[in-house]
Amino acid sequence: MATARAMLGEAPCLCCGKPTPVKEQANGLAIMTCNWCDVKVQSFSKISDAKMRARIIGGAPVKPASPSPAPAAAPAPAAEPARRGGLIL
Ligand SMILES: [Zn+2]
Repeated sequence: MATARAMLGEAPCLCCGKPTPVKEQANGLAIMTCNWCDVKVQSFSKISDAKMRARIIGGAPVKPASPSPAPAAAPAPAAEPARRGGLIL
């Protein structure tokens, strides 16, 4: 069952520059879909999420900060197998 995405604010579209709604995906990362030029910008990491939220006009809602990242020495844990048929809209 689809739920409404949380609205984070508006940011200038990367394509046409017009104010565009920035919402939060089910995974907590930001997504922007421009109603003017139909471009879609979706973040897939915390880095792109932070950059997209930084573009929000007037500032993004404060999100609990995660601890500062450790040096990139620790290997990433094994990824879960991809779920089939679970569309995230
Ligand atoms: Zn646009």
